[in-house]
This record gives sequence, structure tokens and C-alpha cells, in this order.
Amino acid sequence: MAFPVTRLRRLRRTEALRSMVRETRLTPDAFIYPLFVCPGEGVRKEIRSMPGVFNLSVDEAVKEARATKAAGVPSIILFGLPEKKDEVATGAWADDGIVQKAARAIKREVPDLVIMGDVCLCEYMSHGHCGIVKSAPGPQSLGAAAVANPPATGEFEIVNDASLELLARTSVSLAKAGVDVIAPSDMMDGRVAAIRKGLDEAGLINTPILSYAAKFASGFYGPFREAADSAPQFGDRRSYQMDGANIREAMREIELDVEEGADMIMVKPAMPYLDVIAAARERFDLPLAAYQVSGEYAMIEAAARNNWIDRERVMMESLLSIRRAGASLILTYYAKEAAKLL
Ligand SMILES: [Zn+2]
Repeated sequence: MAFPVTRLRRLRRTEALRSMVRETRLTPDAFIYPLFVCPGEGVRKEIRSMPGVFNLSVDEAVKEARATKAAGVPSIILFGLPEKKDEVATGAWADDGIVQKAARAIKREVPDLVIMGDVCLCEYMSHGHCGIVKSAPGPQSLGAAAVANPPATGEFEIVNDASLELLARTSVSLAKAGVDVIAPSDMMDGRVAAIRKGLDEAGLINTPILSYAAKFASGFYGPFREAADSAPQFGDRRSYQMDGANIREAMREIELDVEEGADMIMVKPAMPYLDVIAAARERFDLPLAAYQVSGEYAMIEAAARNNWIDRERVMMESLLSIRRAGASLILTYYAKEAAKLL
């Protein structure tokens, strides 16, 4: 039955009607709020390219965690800025690592909040890569010297299998410190299985894994590297993060992580990869998360500061688009603010 009998505008006439037929809704319980924890006390340092987002010392992170919970957001994800970096990412897996300290403090003060722990090595490595770096070909580990005197592409390799042990060790350490969900973001092959095995052997059989399954090498991560001080000192991450052109390969990445024991999966970034989110939703039945990354946030903030867009409206529309594409969980720097608006 076509026009004039069918008139779709009939159901758009009032907000009550529009609300009644709304297909997708945002709820605060879908949000995960990222926090960047740094050394010190009373530190609350705004990230230049991410206005409204801060590096927080543990005491400030506890306050922020409390405010997050109060806003109705059930979960945070922690990233760490260690005091020192080295060639074996000690800060990632040390018992007194910055995220371990933050997790213990937050668990004690805000016990009901779900704490996720990002598991990667880049923030803790002097070279800023997500795994162990070796000269190729050759066995020697590249460390501080390589940062001072960067090797050319082809002269170094991010070593997959040797990195798995460090990722598993980091995961066990975080879970023991009170992290509820382990979220590996490194994109090494086989890391979900290695982490699962590590957790199980440590008796942590109930700790779930949220895998950054389809993480693309993206220009949208720019501001994050300032936030987490994790930019690679030489080369880039294209040999382990995914090529932005590949959706079929993204499905293979997710499938492998599911087989290896992931409990939840993630697509990152979100808005430039909504088709990947939709395809993953269609194909997999696990809870599906999407990360609205720093560059997505920074673009909205920058345009809003110029009065080129309506900030609140675009913020909510961007989150709605990610939800509509099929993400059940959204990692977003807007978590607290959007929750208050809902
Ligand atoms: Zn990394």
C-alpha cells in the first residue's frame, strides 16, 4: 500500500509517537568509561587533544570511579602510565604496577563497579610497541638503544609468541589485583588462548576475557597516544593491527578469538567501522563491544568548540549509531556525561 495511504510521517508527528516506535535506545548500563591512571597524588592533568579527559593519580581515579558509578555507568576500563618503561614491560605485570594499584584502591572504595583492565605492553615498553621487539633477522632484543637510534622498517620485528607470556603474566597480575574483566588489545595471534590458560592455571577460572578482536590500525588513535604516552618510537603498528580495508579478515580475527575462549568481543574504532560492527553482530552471538576512540571524541569536541556542531546532539547521535549497528557495549569518553542525559 503506497502513498497516499501510507504516510510514514504519521508516526513522527509528536515526541510521544516517535518515542513509542523508536527502534534503538541507549542505556547507561551499556557504557564503559576509560580512565588513564598515572603516578603521583592529587594529579588531574587534562589531555590537550581530549578536553574533558584526564590523566589521574590513583586517589583521583578513585574519585572518578565513584562519580562514574553514581552517574549510572556500571563499568570502567583502566589504562596505565607507568613511572618507568623498559624492554620487558615490567610496569604492565608488576605487582605494584600503576593499574594494579588503581584496581586495588577502586575495588576497595567502589566495590560494585566492574573494573576492566586493558592488557597491552605498549604503554610499558621503552619502544612503545605492543609486543617484544627484536632485530630481524637476529635474536637480540631492541630496547633503549633502538629508541635513540631507530631501525628502519624491515630491520625489526614485533615478536608474536614471545610476547604472549608477558600478556598472560600481565592478565594474571591484573586479575589478582581486582580487575574483573581482562581486555587484551595487543593484536598478537593466539593471545586469548595464552591469557585464558594463564588465568586458569592461576585459579582465575571465573575471570572473563573481552578481546579487542578486530582492532584496526587507525589514524583515529592519535589523541590516545598522548593520553597514554604510548606512541611507537619507530615504525608503526600495521604489522599487527588490522588493515582498515578488511572486513572478511575481521570476521576471521573474531572467529579465532571466540575459538580461543573470548567471552566478549570488540571492534575498534567504532564510527569508521560501523559495517564491521553490524557484520559481527549478524555472525556472532557473544556480547559485542565497540570502542569510540580518542579521535572520534576529539573531532566532536573540536567541531563543537568552533560552534560548528551541536555538541550534545552529535555526542548522542554518534553513540546511537554505534548501538544501532549492533554493539551491546560501548567504550566511550562520553560515558559519564551521556549517562546523565539519559
Ligand atoms: Zn598496545
